[in-house]
Amino acid sequence: MAEKGAHLTGTNFIRPSIFEIIAQESFASTVQPAFQKLLSFILSFNPERYGHLLKWADEAYLIFNITLQRYYFKKYSASFSEAFYGLKRIAIVDSIIKRKLSNKQERLSLILIVVFPYLKQKLQQISQRYQLEEIDGCAPQSKWQKLYRNCVIKGYTMSFMTYEFMVLYNYILYVAGKSVYQSPLLRLLSITLTYAEPVPVLSISDLLRKIKHNSFGINDSIDILQRTVTTSLEFGAFFLQFVSWWTQEHYEKSIMTLPLPPSPKIPEMAKQYKGKCPICCKALKVPMVLSVSGYVFCYQCILPVIRETKKCPVTNYPAQEDDLIRLYLD
Ligand SMILES: [Zn+2]
Repeated sequence: MAEKGAHLTGTNFIRPSIFEIIAQESFASTVQPAFQKLLSFILSFNPERYGHLLKWADEAYLIFNITLQRYYFKKYSASFSEAFYGLKRIAIVDSIIKRKLSNKQERLSLILIVVFPYLKQKLQQISQRYQLEEIDGCAPQSKWQKLYRNCVIKGYTMSFMTYEFMVLYNYILYVAGKSVYQSPLLRLLSITLTYAEPVPVLSISDLLRKIKHNSFGINDSIDILQRTVTTSLEFGAFFLQFVSWWTQEHYEKSIMTLPLPPSPKIPEMAKQYKGKCPICCKALKVPMVLSVSGYVFCYQCILPVIRETKKCPVTNYPAQEDDLIRLYLD
């Protein structure tokens, strides 16, 4: 298929460069962290009440991503990041380039763009959790469960490596001109990427003329609204990427120049738990501090609570097992 594809001579099919393809993919992978950063920022206004919602961040992003990608597919026949780099998807049927995707290809594209990364991430999280439990020695001891966990961990590692290898192999074929498909997923759907035609933009003078001649219709206002929303989304994603780079680069330097802030006041609630565990209300046994809230608990008391509720029992701040730190007081 690839060899056949290499000789495709579509009427005006121009191959995007490998740099655009890679840039587009790395841009796509920054949208989710940006979304989650924004979500945790919004929830941080009232962490006691809404902090626990953070555990649904992946699912919230899934819904947001479906809506976003569906809109871009309908409008540009490309994903959000592809459209950002001025690319669009075209179909290849029996080695002939078709300008438009079939309905089936469009639906499958959408599923692969949205569901594939979600499933990959979930599998990675499960595999990491199983590995950690194995190290901690709290994994179930039954034979079948052990076998199942091993299958998940090995299966994830194997499939991840195979997929990454296929991506690399595909890049090499594409750069060498032996294939028209930019990624294994596009190959699976018989779709390739090319440059999108420039979208006619309504200029301000056109707009004024339209208003003057009273021909400014509802379609024009919808068009302007859509363009405002998508442009701000694209700028927002770009801006967040810039901010994360900036904080990484300058955080360490700027924190040294800041004056020392006053130490935080101890809340009334914390005074009442002085020297004892807020769960069992007895003297602390194997003291562990929960780094998200600063409260200290017995190891045996806090661990099951964190596993069950994923939040601090006193402040309700979202918390993970990794947020527990052993204190060596004596
Ligand atoms: Zn306790």
